[in-house]
Amino acid sequence: MLPPPRLSLVLPVFNEEETIPELARRLKEFLPQLGVTYEVLFIDDGSKDRSLALLKELAREEPRYKVLSFGRNFGHQIAITAGLDIAEGDAVVVMDADLQDPPEVVAEMFAQFEAGFDVVYGIRTKRHGESIFKKVTAAVYYRLLRKLLGFEVPLDAGDFRLMSRQVVIAMRSLRERHRFVRGMVAWIGFKQTKVYYERPARFAGETKYPLSKMLKFAIDGITSFSVVPVRIATYLAILSGLLAVGIGIWSISQKLLGAPVVTGWTTIMMLIAASSAAQLLVMGILGEYVGRTYEEVKKRPLYTVAERVNLDVPGSPAVIDAPPPESLSRP
Ligand code: UDP
Ligand code: MG
Repeated sequence: MLPPPRLSLVLPVFNEEETIPELARRLKEFLPQLGVTYEVLFIDDGSKDRSLALLKELAREEPRYKVLSFGRNFGHQIAITAGLDIAEGDAVVVMDADLQDPPEVVAEMFAQFEAGFDVVYGIRTKRHGESIFKKVTAAVYYRLLRKLLGFEVPLDAGDFRLMSRQVVIAMRSLRERHRFVRGMVAWIGFKQTKVYYERPARFAGETKYPLSKMLKFAIDGITSFSVVPVRIATYLAILSGLLAVGIGIWSISQKLLGAPVVTGWTTIMMLIAASSAAQLLVMGILGEYVGRTYEEVKKRPLYTVAERVNLDVPGSPAVIDAPPPESLSRP
């Protein structure tokens, strides 16, 4: 029997046959230096190349390397989730398989975990080999997201992060379909800190995040945590209501001042402005309820509990609770 792992690495893999041999070499070189027990979980996200065959080969030689293979491509965020669902370590690190998240940074993350932090995320000080477009859109997007969400979201961080078992257990209770893992981890809270690293270019191959996936991901990020977009109709209603009043005052005064206005113009202008304001208002009200329904169907716990002192009463099932210490060490 293998000793229980102190550290689990979760690596989502989608068509990475070119990087897997190098990845395996770097892991083999690096992991023993950590001096802790570990497991490596490869989540094959429906690869169509030789990735799965290569991973199975690795796992045959090394029982601490484990492979979970999806029936089809479910996406990076779902692959991470599957890894968190099965990881057994006291600390779990999620990292890309393309070596853009250098394994060596894991040592620093683990040191922070041992110092008592529950979440250690990697902040990218530089991003090599990525287009200006990606860098600029990411910078703007995360600043906007931070404004909309109302809780602390780290800037310039991807999914490369360490999570304590407690946070991983909390993550397992968030079962929504549209998943924005980095936001969910931030939402859970607990003691968070960061380490800095320079993000190298991907070792080989192309990005597995084409623009279409990136856009979907960006929309998931905002819509999973904010119903502000559905309020746009309400804001527009207020604007066009004000406009209706303005047009009304203006067109009545034109008439009173004896300006040559066509008969009926005033009425038509006021009716158009007022009725569009009314329609937008109704849409806004509907949107508000749709938004609330959406928040409820996610069935997220209302809050997370980090610690309890002299309180043996178990929390309600709808709470992410501090689990008793023994359940933290092993599933
Ligand atoms: N990935 C995945 N499923 C997908 C897309 C990507 O599991 O549908 C994996 C991919 O193999 C890599 C990680 O997610 O390990 C990050 O993807 P990628 O490097 O292409 O993204 P980028 O670094 O370009 O943002
Ligand atoms: Mg990458």
